[in-house]
Parts: sequence; C-alpha cells; structure tokens
Amino acid sequence: MIIITRHNVTDAEIDHIRERIESVGMRTHLSRGEHRTIIGCIGDESLLQEVPLRSLPGVESVTPVLKPYKLASREFAVDRTVVRVGGRDAQASFGGPAITVIAGPCSVESHEMLSTTARLVRAAGATMLRGGAYKPRSSPYAFQGLGAEALRILVDVRAETGMPVVTEVMDTRQVDLVAEHSDMLQVGARNMQNFALLAELGRVRRPVLLKRGLSATIKELLMAAEYIMANGNHDVVLCERGIRTYETATRNTLDIAAIPVLKRETHLPVIVDPSHAGGDAALVAPLAFAAIAAGADGLIVEVHPDPECALSDGDQSLAPPAFATMMQQLHAFAAAAGRSISVAAPAPRAVA
Ligand code: PEP
Ligand code: MN
Repeated sequence: MIIITRHNVTDAEIDHIRERIESVGMRTHLSRGEHRTIIGCIGDESLLQEVPLRSLPGVESVTPVLKPYKLASREFAVDRTVVRVGGRDAQASFGGPAITVIAGPCSVESHEMLSTTARLVRAAGATMLRGGAYKPRSSPYAFQGLGAEALRILVDVRAETGMPVVTEVMDTRQVDLVAEHSDMLQVGARNMQNFALLAELGRVRRPVLLKRGLSATIKELLMAAEYIMANGNHDVVLCERGIRTYETATRNTLDIAAIPVLKRETHLPVIVDPSHAGGDAALVAPLAFAAIAAGADGLIVEVHPDPECALSDGDQSLAPPAFATMMQQLHAFAAAAGRSISVAAPAPRAVA
C-alpha cells in the first residue's frame, strides 16, 4: 500500500499517519520529493482494513502496490534513487544524470597489476575500480582469488588513486571483512538467490552491486533486491550481466530489454556488465554502447594490463588502450541518450 500525501502536508500529519499504520504491526517507509511525500506500508496489508487511511489528515490517495516487490518498486519512491558510493576521499554515484563506469581486472593478481590497471582506467575516465578477491569459479581447480591479501591491495590502490572499490562477497562469513575493505559489495550472479547472504547485506552500511542470476527472471532479480532492502539496506544497484539462453555464440545473452523494463519497474539504478555478457573482448564496446543507448546508469568492465596472461576471464578483458578507445566513443552514445559520463575528482598527488 502506498499513501500519497497532500502537497501542504505537515510533519505532524506525516507522523500521525505513520503511527496509525505502525500501530497495527506494519512498517512504514518514507520517500520525500520536492512536491509530495510517499508513505509506503510494508507487511500484511489486510491489517490495514480497519484503519480509515483515506480520512486521515494530510492523505491525498491510498493505492495498493500489487507487485511482490514493494521497497524496490517504482511506485514506492517519489524520485529515482541515487546510490552514493565511498566516503570523502573517494566517491562515485549511480542513478544521477551522469553515467558511472567501473573498470578493473576480473581478479586482483598483485599490487603492481592492480595499481597499473587502476591508473590506466582512471586516465581513460573510469571513476570506480573493480577487482575480485574471492572468485566464484566453475572449477575447484581454477584460480580462486587472493582472498584477504587482495582486499589489502584494494585498500592500498584506493588510497593511491582515490577510486572507490567494489569487490565480490560470496559468503555470509566474509561480509564484515569485505565491507571493511571496500566501498561497495558485489553479489555475483551465482549468489543472486543466496537469501542468507542477501539478508546479511541488508545489515551492512555499504552499497550493494547485485548482479542478475544466470537464469533469473527480472522479477527474481527485483525480489533479491527486496531481500536486501527489507533487511535495512536501501543502497542497491542492479546489474544486467547476460543470461543463459540456447545461444552459444556468446558466453551469455545480454538482455537489453531488461534495462528499460527495470527502469519502469524500479527506482533503483541499473548498470550493465558487457564483459561477462559477451565473454569476448571484441564484443565489449558494442554491448556497452547498446547498454547506454537503452538507458543504463553505468557500466562495469573488465580491463587487464595483459589480457593474454590474466588468471581469470582473459578472453573478455580489454587491454587498457582498447578501454580508452571505448570510453572516448561512449560520449556520443551518452549524449544521444541525454546523459554524460561522470568525471573523476582530482587525483590524489601520488597519481597526478
Ligand atoms: C565477476 O564480476 O567477475 C563475476 C564473476 O561476475 P558474474 O557473477 O556476473 O559472473
Ligand atoms: Mn570475471
């Protein structure tokens, strides 16, 4: 149920409306816009049957939300959500007018390679750095990531470059450690429906990058976001990274339509991972252009200083010069979509 208030509603009236809803055991969520405020009711709606919501002072209208996702639904928020990442020394945001590009290697392989990659992608226009510490690999014999050592490297390179960092968390037991060492926590495609992990991420004070599961529907992706939000963390960025179809020419099939559908269904920002979608460095730029044209709020792109020698996902990793070319070409697509590409804050002295 959502309650839209009159434009001249007072704080006391809002408090009273919330008290009445909460008195029957439901929770409320407030979304304030410039001209109106939405009060979202969360819980069993039948509990509200006896509450004369329409006649409470300050109420303009009362509408049921039929979607199974409430907090994530478009109706629940007045404006689109802007998710801010990082602190004073390293910042990025998703969902505002500018498109944010995250770039970096699939896995953190050493301090030197992460530092080199970070400087190059930053110079090309990326404002956030990625790098896997714990890797979900299909084979238990494949490189699994440097773990805690990679987390320490991410912290060091963040300090060197001023780029906020995102890295994957695979297990509830890693949540505190990964949150301590990163600015944003990534839930990988294979963990999109790890409900214990999602609930745990609801309790941390860090934005979450939630990747769509390999075989997940858009509704399931939104329900996964709802898990995080219902547990208290509203800073969720959704990521379309390709889904499994009968097509074998590409690693996955980038579901371009998911972008406008998600923008219709939710107020959360939506970004695209063209690297895992196509699984091929030659496909990254065209898929990135298509994503921006379709309305994506950002990109996450794998870049490796020497893709041939990468310990994971070398085939789909761009070498830094190819990334720089793509970034230059991206401006025209952003402009055509009425957007711009977000720019980095001045670099700390070490990088400048
Ligand atoms: C990754 O980002 O390196 C990754 C493993 O992505 P996904 O979970 O989308 O496969
Ligand atoms: Mn990867």
